[in-house]
Amino acid sequence: MATTYRRVNHPVPVHEDVVPRPSDGVDEETDEVEDDMGPLEDCGGTVSDEEEVDDAVAEDIARFEASFKNITQRYRLINRIGEGTFSTENFDSTSSSTLKQTSSRSQKPRYVAIKKIYVTSSPLRILNELELLHDLRDSPNVCPLITAFRHYDQVIAVLPYFQHQDFREYYRDFTVDEMRVYMHSLFTALSSVHEAGIMHRDIKPTNFLYSPSQQRGVLVDFGLAEREGTDYHHCTCCVELPERHRKIQSSVYATTVNAATQAGQPVPKPTYPNNDQRSSRRANRAGTRGFRAPEVLLKCTAQNSQIDVWSCGIILLTFLSKRFPFFHSADDIDAFIELCCIFGKKRMRDTASLHGQVLQTNVPTLTENGHSWEKILLWCTGRNKKGADGEGGLTKEEQEAVKFMNSCLELDPAHRVTADEALDLPFLAALGGSRMSREEMDMGEDDL
Ligand SMILES: [Zn+2]
Repeated sequence: MATTYRRVNHPVPVHEDVVPRPSDGVDEETDEVEDDMGPLEDCGGTVSDEEEVDDAVAEDIARFEASFKNITQRYRLINRIGEGTFSTENFDSTSSSTLKQTSSRSQKPRYVAIKKIYVTSSPLRILNELELLHDLRDSPNVCPLITAFRHYDQVIAVLPYFQHQDFREYYRDFTVDEMRVYMHSLFTALSSVHEAGIMHRDIKPTNFLYSPSQQRGVLVDFGLAEREGTDYHHCTCCVELPERHRKIQSSVYATTVNAATQAGQPVPKPTYPNNDQRSSRRANRAGTRGFRAPEVLLKCTAQNSQIDVWSCGIILLTFLSKRFPFFHSADDIDAFIELCCIFGKKRMRDTASLHGQVLQTNVPTLTENGHSWEKILLWCTGRNKKGADGEGGLTKEEQEAVKFMNSCLELDPAHRVTADEALDLPFLAALGGSRMSREEMDMGEDDL
């Protein structure tokens, strides 16, 4: 598209205020982009201008309009959509008459979503989010940034409004085929985000706005996203297997254990050194509890975009188990124990050592080998294991979904399927035989 291509050379447009200037170049640009976005009616929306809002929302809207100078000259706020990470709020609005006048091609009101970026976010983080969204403006199934405004310490991002349904309303009722379509849409978004060298870091149902009736969704909220390699530091998981084994064998813990074993003494319990000279291990652990990959929980310093694939696997697990949230831990230690409960101590010990950590637990209920997904899913959905009569157990479709989920929930990120590969696995490739080309996806953007 010529319009979007032209925007490549422009910096992210962050306006200092919102005084409408019809001849402003940025306005024209915004308008052209907006022309590409169909109005709500085109995507089967039901929000009308007369939509009733409750008093609390009306108050919120009034407060926002009063605090953000001249916002009412451009947009008329209709309703609040939801709350985003870091307490941001989204307002559903129509563009004001001022903006409509600047458009020569259409007089229809355009619906957009206004994301209020929380004022305590650091300016660098806000700029990071806007820049990443700008970079991803042509990515399929990723909600593009239309424009952004600043008024003193407040920043708002203007995004196309996408008609969607709350995850809680449909996740229990989805058939495996519906899960397939959902995951295909999600992985299409993720694959393009990763292709741009960006990791989202907060993949979860509330950040993927999905419309079951239209069978498509858009990935939103890049507030925690970062470019791959931003925080990269060497980790044991980066070295080749023989070197990793050598490092693990020469660690303080391993040498202590070996010395005790050779001397015929009981293996001492791991202890904390009194004066640890080593610098503390720091790693980005941003994300949402229950969706964090094991390497995030283990403070791996070489995290890559594979952490997002893990989170997608958790979403599929939510569908299959009909439990949301599936994991419900209070902190990262609890979250790790939850994984131990499923994967077993043996595999989690290996996973910990992959990143140079030692797993030691005295939780008596944890087993060495954990439990199979089949057993867990049947238990979650109140069904029996397959009996001698051939009754019970997971359906053939569910087994296929579990196989796909297993590829996403591989504990070692180096062995986990990539987003791009996932689209070619039988579970997703079965959808029409081939994936949509980027051009076909681009054509679909008019529905946004
Ligand atoms: Zn690591």
